[in-house]
Amino acid sequence: MFSQLPAPMLDPILSLSVAYRNDPRDEKVDLGIGVYKNSAGETPVMQAIKQAQDIVVATQTTKSYVGLAGCEQFNQSMIDLLLTGTSAMDRVSAIQTPGASGALRMLGDLMKVAQPNTTIWISDPSYVNHKPVMEAAGLKVRHYRYFSRDTKQVDVDAMMADLRTAGKDDVVLLHGCCHNPTGADIDFDAWQAITQLSQKNGFTPFVDIAYQGFGDGLEADAKGLRYMADNVEEMLITTSCSKNFGLYRERTGAAIVVANTKQEADNAKGKLMTLARSTYTMPPDHGAALVKTILGSDTLTQVWKQELSQMQKRLVSLRKALCDELKNSHGTSQFDFIQSHKGMFTVLGFSQEQMTQLREEYGIYGVGDGRINIAGLTEKDIPYVANAIVRVA
Ligand code: PLP
Repeated sequence: MFSQLPAPMLDPILSLSVAYRNDPRDEKVDLGIGVYKNSAGETPVMQAIKQAQDIVVATQTTKSYVGLAGCEQFNQSMIDLLLTGTSAMDRVSAIQTPGASGALRMLGDLMKVAQPNTTIWISDPSYVNHKPVMEAAGLKVRHYRYFSRDTKQVDVDAMMADLRTAGKDDVVLLHGCCHNPTGADIDFDAWQAITQLSQKNGFTPFVDIAYQGFGDGLEADAKGLRYMADNVEEMLITTSCSKNFGLYRERTGAAIVVANTKQEADNAKGKLMTLARSTYTMPPDHGAALVKTILGSDTLTQVWKQELSQMQKRLVSLRKALCDELKNSHGTSQFDFIQSHKGMFTVLGFSQEQMTQLREEYGIYGVGDGRINIAGLTEKDIPYVANAIVRVA
């Protein structure tokens, strides 16, 4: 059975961490995998999570199964975080999933059942797993132009030109904020324009929001998504607690469906539960139990919001420090775009060869497509990294 299988291909991002760990050099910087790190280079358990964990351990009375949709209080919390204040609140449903990755697959499977002919449009470039997950669900995948390698910003004209060809059997996947890998987000005007195009041409928007709170803050990061949810009949959303609650390994996320009516949203939820049943049956509980505990307590919510805001501010200040260093010590404003990007990532615009040079000559590990994780920097690395960027550019 297995003799026909080819040797496994290494995951381009996960394999970087292994290579970094095995690199014997003292001077090395890991800007590969997308996890937040503090100034000590660690990804700590958040204080709010620690406190919630104590409460859950002290009060949990059973490890019996949860339902197919996971924890309903958690699901409602995810809906509230994203959609509060919109008309979508009355026609929405959600299931808890193993991370946003699980949510992407469940919604991919749902689209395949509900509208077998679906073509899903994803940005070029996009999160490395979008295409494989949607193809695994049996959907056709097309790309829309997104990032200008010249300006290092979103090429809105090109994006809109491509999206104008999407029609009623199509789904357009957008990043809610903090675009992965580029760091370049669409502005509110573009959110409005895409919403109007969806109303006119009939495609369904799908927003993957994995970094709410990391861009401009919890509310600001949901502004475009909320406008859209308020103004379209149907919409799909995936969300993640990996980054903003630091729950990466607990696999905590949600798949959310906004429909024309509450009944249709509930029908979609029923189908999602059947799909979950035949895939993993039910999501792991622990992460959702922690998030539910935090968001169910005003005190813990405040602790969490404060920590999240500190993380967001740290990302902004790291971006500024890197740009300042490039300008002040190297006299170049060529990389000023780094400061306009949002969240953890930035695409430097380097070729695969330049990224290899960064790794081999300087021990700086970024992804082959030119993505670096700003959160992987510590303040002391900045002069070293800035120097390497200038040498390689
Ligand atoms: N979507 C995007 C855009 C991401 O960047 C990621 C993770 O990096 C995910 C989804 C998956 O997140 P999770 O860890 O919740 O599965």
